Amino acid sequence: MLAVSVKANGYGHGLAEMVTLLKDENRVDYITMHSVSEAELARKSGWDRKIMLLGPFSTDETAAVIELDLEPMIFELGSLEQLGRLASQKNVVVKTHLKLETGTNRQGITEKELSKFAAVYQKYNGLLPYGAAMHFANIEDTTNHEYAQEQLDRFGELVICMKELGIDPEIKHTASSAALILFDKTRFDLVRPGLSAYGYWPSKETYLSYQLAGGGNDLFEPVLSWKTRVTQLKQVEKDSFIGYGCSYRTTATIKLAVLPIGYYDGYGRSLSNLAYVLIEGKRAPVRGRICMNLTMVDVTDVEGVKVGDEVTLIGQDGSEAVWADQLAEWGQTINYEVLARLSASIDRLAI
Ligand SMILES: *Cc1c(COP(=O)(O)O)cnc(C)c1O
Repeated sequence: MLAVSVKANGYGHGLAEMVTLLKDENRVDYITMHSVSEAELARKSGWDRKIMLLGPFSTDETAAVIELDLEPMIFELGSLEQLGRLASQKNVVVKTHLKLETGTNRQGITEKELSKFAAVYQKYNGLLPYGAAMHFANIEDTTNHEYAQEQLDRFGELVICMKELGIDPEIKHTASSAALILFDKTRFDLVRPGLSAYGYWPSKETYLSYQLAGGGNDLFEPVLSWKTRVTQLKQVEKDSFIGYGCSYRTTATIKLAVLPIGYYDGYGRSLSNLAYVLIEGKRAPVRGRICMNLTMVDVTDVEGVKVGDEVTLIGQDGSEAVWADQLAEWGQTINYEVLARLSASIDRLAI
């Protein structure tokens, strides 16, 4: 089975837009969401297949988990107890997935704790221990996958414990994008890719590991472009400062374009004086600090720029391209963060 992650506003691509696109993909069995409120939006956007809830749900949200027909990941005893009580009251059966602790030390249930969880499952008929899950700690961070293998071994042991405790899972799942790309043995019965579904490699290390194993180069093509328009053009004299903090000073008379986007929109301030945008198929460098709502770029060498011209912040323009990986490198972060931080207020078009 295939479970595509649409958390974080569809990795910044837009939750409703992604649901609309994924609805036409019959191969997609599940979407995975972090929060109940995201899952509710997915249902409102017309997603009627399965939803796996990866994050926690509060007491107030327990009824919604049932009403929205979510399959929650379980890692906290109190919320399992509440879910069990409510499911049994309503006479329904809720499919759940136990998140097992194999070395990420984030949400997982340890071997010691498992028996307490098993007792709750035994107490309530309304709880089905449907899935056993884990998440890798460093599979995208290194070309050495020893730790990932240890986690996988530990997972196997914990699944045996589950069986012994009478909560034998029907399905097992472990693979996020990097695991899915690199190791068939992590796939089990269901895979949970996020980033790769949007056309990105999870990291350079994943790309390298894949190449080392004889893989090709054409696995992914990013699906999102981010564009804006030039709203103002001006000539700025030699030796003038540009923007807050006077961090850039011109060394010649230049033509400057002002763009109506800033860090509020997700064009991070760490890109100040470092990033390039694309106009007319050419790179134009960001000058000065990125503001809350505005960014200035030098268009001296881009011929014929006019107010209203299209500007590519992420995407391809002629033979030039700037993808989220590149912005991440300039801004000292990862492509995941660049995408996830694209403001929900930006107009999105699914084409
Ligand atoms: C976000 C998430 C994924 C997807 O990870 P990618 O690296 O984007 O493929 C898979 N599993 C869990 C538990 C997640 O939280």
